[in-house]
This record gives sequence, structure tokens and C-alpha cells, in this order.
Amino acid sequence: MPAPDRYAVIGHPIAHSRSPWIHAEFARATGQSLIYTAIDAAPEALSDTIRAFFDGGGRGLNVTAPHKEAVLELLPSLSERARIAGAVNTIAWQPSGALLGDNTDGVGFVRDLRHNLGIEIEGRRVLLLGAGGAARGLLAPLLAEQPLEVVIANRGAARACELATRFAAPGPVRGTGYNELAPPAFGLIVNATAASMHQLLPPLAEGLVGPGTVCYDLAYGSQDSPFVRWARERGAALSCMGGGMLVEQAAESFLLWRGMRPDTAAVLARLSP
Ligand code: NDP
Repeated sequence: MPAPDRYAVIGHPIAHSRSPWIHAEFARATGQSLIYTAIDAAPEALSDTIRAFFDGGGRGLNVTAPHKEAVLELLPSLSERARIAGAVNTIAWQPSGALLGDNTDGVGFVRDLRHNLGIEIEGRRVLLLGAGGAARGLLAPLLAEQPLEVVIANRGAARACELATRFAAPGPVRGTGYNELAPPAFGLIVNATAASMHQLLPPLAEGLVGPGTVCYDLAYGSQDSPFVRWARERGAALSCMGGGMLVEQAAESFLLWRGMRPDTAAVLARLSP
């Protein structure tokens, strides 16, 4: 019997990742023979670690914080959505030997909001917190849902403005710093910063959350994040963590690697915190 195909998620830190469990569940449910592990690689070791993984027969990687942008220059070919995002969360080995970079974050996010949570983005004013790799992946699929406006806020405002300029063509989007955020309340607030990983809250003004506001933290874990608690205390219509997106983006990666999209509902229901 041939050895199982090898996959992994690469990030720094990575111990918290639930991706190995999710992909093991997908493999079991679909009868696919594969092994999926987690690799901790500091930025200076990223290139060598990726090369060693694929030279050793690896078939695919998920890429997580803080490597989603840095990995771009290591990849000879990119999918259209990864090119538009300027960020990669999935790498696929191809028979030609050329590694393909893809981005499944945005489609996973929109799918969780619309299909799992029943939230429509169309017509909402959206506040996107953060301008890192995850925010980049979200923007094109988010704009495709036709929000009224997308405001990107980042600690380094210049990075938010640069991102807004990059995405200016597909829709109404602008960048700003946190100190310029003010009421009226937004329809959707997405926390795509790494603050929750450190139990921190971005410096958010009062009046941004109203009774109709949906608040979504990309972070996931056993405890509600400071952002989720902040939103709930201010009466948000819905305030949730990113476990659903995690499962949906994983399913899209699995589809790219294995040619089949696993059922996500069963895995989402069993995603232990
Ligand atoms: P990056 O390192 O690429 O970007 C981090 C971003 O967070 C930057 O915009 C940075 O701002 C900002 N930031 C960091 N610390 C703080 C803070 N204390 N206050 C305010 N802003 C802060 O990370 P990623 O974009 O790859 O990941 C971001 C988060 O999204 C992580 O928590 C990750 O786990 C989560 N994620 C979840 C997914 C899911 O499927 N649920 C998928 C992808 C990501 P600055 O530029 O000013 O430094």
C-alpha cells in the first residue's frame, strides 16, 4: 500500500492550530489516505522549511500567521484569487513540480457568514479591522457581496490605506487609523487582527456597534475573545468567533488538493473549542 500523502499547516506560533484535527476528520469522512501535521517555522526559516517539506514528498501546505504575504515570493505560480489578495493560505504541489499558491480564506469567510450563519453582506457598511494576510484574503470576496462600503482600520494606518487603494476598483473601500473611527454604527465588524491571539482588543471607539451590528472575530479558541465580549456587551445582533471560517477555508483547501469538497456541517458541529 502506498504511503499516505503528506500535508501540513505552517505558522509561528502554531501549537494552537485546529487544522490537523479538521483535515483528519475530512480525510476520514471522504476515505482519503493522508497525514496532516503542524509545522512551526520562524520567518527566517520559512523558505528552507517549505523547500524541505516539498522536496521530501509533501503534497500541500496551509500557511498561517505571520507568513501569508512573505510566502508569495517563494511561489512560481498563483491562483487568480491569491494574486488579487496578495496573500496565500494554501500551497499545492503540482505534477510539473511548480508549487501553486492559492487563497481560500475569503471564500471560507463568506461561506460561513452566508451559509452557516444566514447573514447577508449586501448593503451593509463593513468595518474590517487589520491589514495583514487574513484581511487581504477577505477583501475581494467581501466586496463581491456588494456591501455599501468597506472601511479598513489598522494600527499602522498607512498599511490600511495601501490596501484600500489596491482594492479600490472592485468596490467602495477606504483605509484609516483607529483614532478616526466614529459612529454611526456599522452593519458588520470583522476583526482580522492578531490582537485576540494575545487576549488584546484593538482600540475601538464607542458607538460603532448598534442593535443590527454583526461582529465576527477571525480568531478561534476555547474562550470568547476580548473583541467578542466587547461586541456582546454593546448589544451586537451577533458576536462570534471564526471556527466556522476555519472549517470552510479548510474544506476549500481540501478541494484544491484532493478534488473533492468534504461536508463541513458535521465537522463544524464537532469542532471542540
Ligand atoms: P498578520 O500577522 O498577517 O497580520 C496581523 C494584523 O493584526 C496586522 O494588521 C496588525 O496590525 C494587527 N495587529 C496585531 N496585533 C494587534 C493589536 N494588539 N491591536 C490591533 N491590531 C493588531 O496575521 P493574519 O492576518 O494572518 O491573521 C490575523 C488573525 O486572523 C489571526 O488571529 C489568525 O489566527 C486569524 N485567522 C483566522 C482564520 C480562520 O479561518 N478563522 C483564517 C486566517 C486568519 P499592524 O499592521 O499595525 O501591525
